[in-house]
Amino acid sequence: MIQENASQAPSNRIRASVKIIEKKEIAEGTLGLYLEKPNGFTYCAGQYVLLHVPQLSEKGGREATHPMSLASAPYQDYLLISMRVSQSDFKQTINNMAVGEELVVDGPIGNFILNNDNHPIVFLAGGIGIAPFLGMILDQQNNGWPRPITLFYGNKTPQNTAFLELLRGIKSDKFLFIPTMSQLSDDDKTWAGERGRITASMVSKYVKDVMVPIYYIVGLPEMVKATKEEMLKLGVKSENIKIEFFTGYTK
Ligand SMILES: Cc1cc2nc3c(=O)[nH]c(=O)nc-3n(C[C@H](O)[C@H](O)[C@H](O)COP(=O)(O)OP(=O)(O)OC[C@H]3O[C@@H](n4cnc5c(N)ncnc54)[C@H](O)[C@@H]3O)c2cc1C
Repeated sequence: MIQENASQAPSNRIRASVKIIEKKEIAEGTLGLYLEKPNGFTYCAGQYVLLHVPQLSEKGGREATHPMSLASAPYQDYLLISMRVSQSDFKQTINNMAVGEELVVDGPIGNFILNNDNHPIVFLAGGIGIAPFLGMILDQQNNGWPRPITLFYGNKTPQNTAFLELLRGIKSDKFLFIPTMSQLSDDDKTWAGERGRITASMVSKYVKDVMVPIYYIVGLPEMVKATKEEMLKLGVKSENIKIEFFTGYTK
């Protein structure tokens, strides 16, 4: 299991064929895949599925099946998956599939869900690691924002930032959104927000009492490890940091 400090999600896993409802480019090189929600499929925001491509079944294992976080929220009547498109057979086959064709989902899986407490929440997302956080944010919004959320979201450029406009459009005094870009040239004046990686000093600039929230970190393993180190530097207790690694990407 690739999660730490996890809460326990109920186990109600099913495997089902689902039709692709919609496909759209949600950022440069990033696909938003809207899938039918199977009958009886219930999940907690933040969980993931094993996504299986039937055309690749003969190849088996890793070639045909990848873990993918659900970026949708449980109240929505579809499942949303967001993925960086690589040259792998898995990604290319999905990228070339048409609306109406079928994939197989197996899930929900995982305990990367919100702790059942009253602490404020700080989300720290690297790139496509935003996926489980989007589902959690939509879920909290749908429930009337029981807890304040601060989202730090690191990407290379605004163009490759999935869901940037959607997140900017969420207006609530319970939701603070801090996108940060790491690969803009210094003379690029089109971006007025934060720059560089998510660091201890960036977090302390926006989070008043850094000891109070629960911190959730998702991204590639090196991003997760580096960001966790930054939070420990701030004095955050290890038990108040929950992490999920998106393994399986090469640099
Ligand atoms: C819990 C979880 C949730 C995830 N959610 C998402 C998501 O929402 N969106 C998204 O885009 N990606 C997500 N990922 C990553 C995803 O499953 C793929 O690994 C990733 O998208 C790369 O796939 P690929 O087809 O581009 O590369 P591939 O060609 O499959 O693999 C790239 C390279 O990684 C190596 N590799 C294969 N398997 C592993 C492994 N298990 N660990 C380490 N290296 C491996 C391969 O040998 C290859 O060199 C998630 C991963 C996990 C574990």
